[in-house]
Amino acid sequence: MEITSAKFVISNSRADMCPEGNLPEYAFIGRSNVGKSSLINMLTNHSKLAMTSSTPGKTLLINHFLINNSWYLVDLPGYGYAQRGKKVMEQIKNIIQHYVLERMQMTCLFVLIDSRLEPQKIDLEFIEWLGENSVPFALVFTKADKQNIVKTQQNVERFLNTLKEQWEELPAYFITSAEKKTGRKEVLDYIDSINKS
Ligand code: GDP
Repeated sequence: MEITSAKFVISNSRADMCPEGNLPEYAFIGRSNVGKSSLINMLTNHSKLAMTSSTPGKTLLINHFLINNSWYLVDLPGYGYAQRGKKVMEQIKNIIQHYVLERMQMTCLFVLIDSRLEPQKIDLEFIEWLGENSVPFALVFTKADKQNIVKTQQNVERFLNTLKEQWEELPAYFITSAEKKTGRKEVLDYIDSINKS
């Protein structure tokens, strides 16, 4: 899929204030600093469409971007901000839960995983929760350029093997680098294939 247009539409902190209509939504989520903004900017070919996590006030917002006038790319708040305090953590959790569980238009949730790290409890727990709630999702391993291919493959395999202990079927997954634009075509083609099905 080619991206011919990408427009910021609205930021808000409530799932029920998201855009009306029936366009499919593809949402992106992950731990703070996982590389979500960089990935969104890479996918849409915009250097500053998604604001980085250092932008003040950004953490509590759901951001909708209209792509090719036919689907929304949704930037969700990052999870796992331990340093933000309990109250903010609760607020973030509520926003995520409402959006993920109640937003009928959400077609696939892309869960970002840092390809440099061994499987992290917080990511595994989040994925388990998605499974319990039958939420459609795919995995995106980020920052693949930060180490050699062998190391990336090892980390990805470790992650998938951990999931295999609980899941009969593995989700779709993508290995990406915002820096090198790796995986861009694969993620966009995956979205395209769901949109056409
Ligand atoms: P967010 O908090 O998940 O939105 O993460 P950001 O996109 O702001 O990225 C966090 C940091 O990781 C920034 O310093 C980025 O430049 C860096 N980063 C993100 N993606 C990549 C990548 O694919 N390769 C490299 N080398 N650095 C990345």
